[in-house]
Amino acid sequence: MTTPPRQTATYLLKRFRESGFEPFARHGQNFLVDLNLLDILLDAAELGPQDVVLEIGTGMGTLTTQMAPRVAEVVTVEIDQHLFQLASEELIDFENVTMLQQDALRNKNNLHPAVLETVAEKVKAEPGRQLKLVANLPYNIATPILSNLLETPIVPVLMVATIQKELADRIMAVPSTKDYSALSIWMQSLCDVELVRVLPPQVFWPRPKVNSAIIRITPNAEKRAQIPDLTFFHTFVRALFFHRRKFLRSVIISAFKEQLDKEAVDEVLTRLHFASDARAEQLDVQTLLMLSEAFRVKVLEAQDARE
Ligand code: SAM
Repeated sequence: MTTPPRQTATYLLKRFRESGFEPFARHGQNFLVDLNLLDILLDAAELGPQDVVLEIGTGMGTLTTQMAPRVAEVVTVEIDQHLFQLASEELIDFENVTMLQQDALRNKNNLHPAVLETVAEKVKAEPGRQLKLVANLPYNIATPILSNLLETPIVPVLMVATIQKELADRIMAVPSTKDYSALSIWMQSLCDVELVRVLPPQVFWPRPKVNSAIIRITPNAEKRAQIPDLTFFHTFVRALFFHRRKFLRSVIISAFKEQLDKEAVDEVLTRLHFASDARAEQLDVQTLLMLSEAFRVKVLEAQDARE
């Protein structure tokens, strides 16, 4: 298929006006109208014929129409019925595009199973296929989308997305900074992360109040292999950063109060040479991985001793 015409800002606004569409801020409906930046996003995704692309937020299909001719399949999800209708007209000729009209999330923390099942089916349809997330993400759900895709059965080989600059800063933050959080550790412990471009508000219609960024997140199999129990690690890091300013010892005692007594917690912290005034926000990713693993083993030992 030849590359379809690109949706210019003029075209997009004309279609919106004709159909009476009004953007809805709560759904993060800020459309990228600078086509050079759309190209930068597409280049960063390095799309190829083996790729199955998941796009969250079809909008008018601006990005979808450019991706479809380059890849095996696109699964695109849109919550807004009016936009879904408009996009259906734009995408009618694309046989490899599957449109879903629904919320991409089942709840605050989980992707919707129908989305995951559709994607899994497309990936398994041919040997050698791989999943990529490529999207101008609705800002209010960017965090659960990016972080939860890493815990699903089919992990993407790459995620390239437009997100709030502030969120990109949190994902890439280093220890002892205000942005360093459970999200920074989760993403950095599993992926290589790169800021592709900062986007000012005027490249979107309507203009958001804040800067945005294109981020490129590459899940790293070697990093993943360092974490024997992903769910334990995720829960551990979240618990540690829930009270980020408290001393590590008291946070861990409270987090494991059902499984470990204080002596057991102290034994691990002393063995690993943690100072009594250590705080989670000062620890780098490697140290947190080591700490999590030590407590995972300790919890298992305590369980065995009880049985
Ligand atoms: N992809 C289009 C583009 O590049 O112009 C639109 C991107 S716009 C930033 C985000 C889109 O996500 C909107 O069309 C919005 O309606 C949709 N959306 C918002 N929340 C959603 C959700 N929970 N599930 C699926 N789509 C959602």
